[in-house]
Amino acid sequence: MLVDSHCHLHDDFPIPVDEALKKSHENGVDKIIVIGTSPEDSEKACVFAGEHEEVHWTFGYHPEEYDGDKAKLEKDLNDAKTFLSDPKLVGIGEIGLDYHFPPTDKKAQIFLLENMLQIAQDMKLPVSFHVRDAFEDFWPIFDNFKLVPSVLHSFTDSEENIEQGLKRGLYFGVNGIATFAKIAHPPIERIVLETDAPFLTPKPFRGKINESAFIRNIAEWAAEYYNLSLDEVAKITTQNAELIFKI
Ligand SMILES: [Zn+2]
Repeated sequence: MLVDSHCHLHDDFPIPVDEALKKSHENGVDKIIVIGTSPEDSEKACVFAGEHEEVHWTFGYHPEEYDGDKAKLEKDLNDAKTFLSDPKLVGIGEIGLDYHFPPTDKKAQIFLLENMLQIAQDMKLPVSFHVRDAFEDFWPIFDNFKLVPSVLHSFTDSEENIEQGLKRGLYFGVNGIATFAKIAHPPIERIVLETDAPFLTPKPFRGKINESAFIRNIAEWAAEYYNLSLDEVAKITTQNAELIFKI
């Protein structure tokens, strides 16, 4: 049994969703977490999870989705309270910092991140972090909060930041990028599998739309890289996802 711990099937997914879910089951992917990227998008994730037994959802606010308007953030977070009591909510995210495409409003991103981390801490929910070219600013903010074990989603950063994450008890989301790019890899004990579908399609399906069924291909990559059987990879990564997100 495999888990897709981070994907976006809920928002205008380019493949008919029932087909995608059926194909996921055929490939052993029996639990799926859809990730919100804004309050509106998170509400869609919540509705989608309510319609599909195997799907859970997270409440997120991507750093690039926020324009720095403090009154709007306050209203957004207040409005969200109505659906944060949903029983299929399993985490906060994606949230984080992304300095990849300048100019970035770092102040606004940090303000948003701190507000979202406060919710994660108060609700004792794990976080799916999106951090890109911003770890220097990220670690001191992360250290100001007391979070349950959480995930650095789509991790493609340095060995040094793997060490930083490991010593803070974090897990790492491994996706299709591992199958086609040369990047540093965390130890298997701290990995969860994710597709980030419809983005980041793994080998051998590059050029196609990504979907949760392709978790199997990422697991196959991991089995080869870590010199384990597919069953062992499935067992370790599924246990990790179940432990973190309580699914
Ligand atoms: Zn994502």
